[in-house]
Parts: sequence; structure tokens; C-alpha cells
Amino acid sequence: MNILVINCGSSSLKYQLIDMENEAVLAKGLCERIGIDGSRLEHKPAGKDKFVLEEPMPDHKVAVQLVLDALSDPEHGVIASTDEISAVGHRVVHGGQAYSDSVLIDEKVKDVIRENFDLGPLHNPANLIGIEACEQVMPGKPQAAVFDTAFGQSMPEKAYMYAIPYEYYAKYGVRRYGFHGTSHSFVSREAIRFANLDPNNCKIIVCHLGNGASVSASINGKCVDTSMGLTPLEGLIMGTRSGDLDPAVIQYICNKEGKTLDEIFNILNKKSGILGLSGGISSDFRDVQKAQNEGNHEAQVAIDAYVYRVAKYIGAYTAAMNGVDAIAFTAGVGENDGVIRGEICKYLTYLGVVIDAEANKGRGENIMISTPESKVKVMVLPTNEELAIARETLALIG
Ligand code: AMP
Repeated sequence: MNILVINCGSSSLKYQLIDMENEAVLAKGLCERIGIDGSRLEHKPAGKDKFVLEEPMPDHKVAVQLVLDALSDPEHGVIASTDEISAVGHRVVHGGQAYSDSVLIDEKVKDVIRENFDLGPLHNPANLIGIEACEQVMPGKPQAAVFDTAFGQSMPEKAYMYAIPYEYYAKYGVRRYGFHGTSHSFVSREAIRFANLDPNNCKIIVCHLGNGASVSASINGKCVDTSMGLTPLEGLIMGTRSGDLDPAVIQYICNKEGKTLDEIFNILNKKSGILGLSGGISSDFRDVQKAQNEGNHEAQVAIDAYVYRVAKYIGAYTAAMNGVDAIAFTAGVGENDGVIRGEICKYLTYLGVVIDAEANKGRGENIMISTPESKVKVMVLPTNEELAIARETLALIG
């Protein structure tokens, strides 16, 4: 049984076709520049050569059709026809407070995605366009929505409420939602399996450290806190996002620089984080580390501040859960960068964390990086959001 996983952006569409018998990726690819000049499809079938198609894609419906054509093409395809696709799983960023689980898509689900356009303005409209494009091209095919906010829905009120007048929550749903939920859920389950923890008695912290970054705390598989908020701007220092900030900074810079709120939020989302702190070197850790190794002060500060913020969140979540059994690192930095992991863990010796320096040199696979004596198990666990979406979709279609 094959599941097609779709992650739709405003001008892009990423996909994977996964055979659920063995969870193997049959093909994956990306449509870029949808609706703009220079549209391009890059299709990578397993065991065959990459196929690139440069053809106009005026909208997502055309893009979906080209993806299906590529998947069922006699030369670079992997299936005979779209009948071999059992269902489609969509990544949907914001489900608001309506969904704490994945759902099969019907008109009501589409209405909820639409109602949350305000909360996910960059993603929800594109996600809905992808869903409607699939409905048009594959009428009747079961489709599932897997929400990035679903995992955070189990947070208790004390964790998700902001200390602002209650009416803003009541009227507009202003609260903390959390994002990267599909990854946090996948990795926390993987942590239970890999570290052989008791699923009914375990406290886990997952550090999703990629270009976007967030930490989650879960007890017995249920999220009790996570670092992103109403939007993905809160929490850790990220590639280009500031994370936590005194809101007064916004007014202060607006006044000093004569900037509008929109301009400031653009800076906080796209020009801050590691990129901003390093004085504009890069949002990519590898570039900033290179500069750090060459003695660049701003690069050093950016990395020190990044590590410090992650360590503070781990401390806060350990307190929130009154303990922690396992800490898992995932995503681009978390999976690949043993130096950053090591620096974060230096703050955790008070928890009895002992890191195996040799194991911590590994990357890109499930690795236990703590020693057997360590009081907390520390792991590298690669995330796989596409597989998580496919599994959720499979569970829904039974
Ligand atoms: P992601 O958003 O999960 O794809 O992560 C992307 C980020 O991971 C990049 O911006 C890099 O900063 C970081 N990254 C990827 N590979 C490495 C690596 N080998 N060493 C250090 N950082 C890496």
C-alpha cells in the first residue's frame, strides 16, 4: 500500500511516495516556482536516475498532475498508475484548537484550515491549495491532514496561556500552540523505542534543532510544553528567527529606526537568530562555525547564545516535568553537529548527564550518545516527518 505525502508551500510542493509494507521511499521530489516563471520539477525515483522537468506550472493543480505523471511514467516512474496510491497525507501547519490528532479531510476540515489562515498566514493557504489541487486531480482519493500544531494540543492551560488580558484568548485564540509537532511526536516515540523506556512512565525532552528550532517536553508520549508559541517565532534562537524577546524591544527599535511593525517582524523572522547575531555571516551553522574557528567574535557569541538558550529550555522543562529520563537531538544541527550537542550537554552535568565523546561524533542515524552510567539517556534520533505523516495517514484509512 503506497501513501503519497505532500508538503505544499505557496510556490513549492515537496512530495514522497512511501510503500507502507516496508516504509521504503519509492520516489521523492520537489516542484519549485509554481505560479512564477521558471517552474521546475525535480523527481528522484529510488534506484533510477533523477528526472528534471522544466515546464510551466501556472498553479498547484498543474504541479500535482505533473508529479502524478512523473510517478507513473514508464521510464522514471515507480508505479503503473495512480490507482496504486491508496491515500494522500498532507502536512498542514495550523489546526488551531480544533484538532489534537490527524484527520481525514472533508469540507469541515477544510473550513477549519481556512479559519486558521490568520494564525498560519504563510502556510495554511498553501496547504489548502495543495489539498484542493489533489481533490481535483484525484477525485475520491482519501486525503489526511496532519497538523504541525496537533502534538502541542495536550499542553495544559498553565503552559499555553500568555499572561495578557484573557479576552484575547477568548476572542481570538491567542495562546501558545507549538509547531514541529509531527517531528516532536515522531522523535519522542522513537526515543521510547530506541532507549527501551516504559511508555507509561517516561519524561522526554526533544530538541529539534534545524533552521527552525524548538524543544518539547512530553510525559508518557503527551506533550506538556513546547517552546514555539502563537507563531514559530517564540523560543530558541534559530537560523534567522530571534526566538524569545522582550516585546518592548519591538517598540524601541520601531521608534529609533522609524520602522513599521511589519518591517520589524520581517527582521525578527528573517534577519535575526544566528544570522543576525553573527553580524550577518550566515544562518547556516557550518558557516558560522567556520568563522568561529577563525576567531570571529560575533560568530562565537552567536553559537554561545544558541547553546545557552537550548540548555536553559532543557533546564526549564526538566523542572516542569520534575525530572527527565531521556533527551533526544534531531533535525539538521541536532542530527549532524556533535560539537553543538556536546556544548549543550556540558550544561547538564547537574542532571547526571555523561556523554560518550566517541559516540557523540556520529551523525545521521539513531545513536545513544550518553554512557551507560549517565542518569539521563541522551540520543541522536533523525526525524522523518514524511514517514510520520504517512503512518498517520495509513492509520486513518485503516
Ligand atoms: P533543517 O532545517 O533540519 O534542514 O536543518 C538545516 C540546518 O542544519 C542548516 O541550516 C545547518 O545550519 C544545519 N546543518 C546541516 N548539516 C549540518 C552539519 N553537517 N553540521 C552542522 N550543521 C548542519
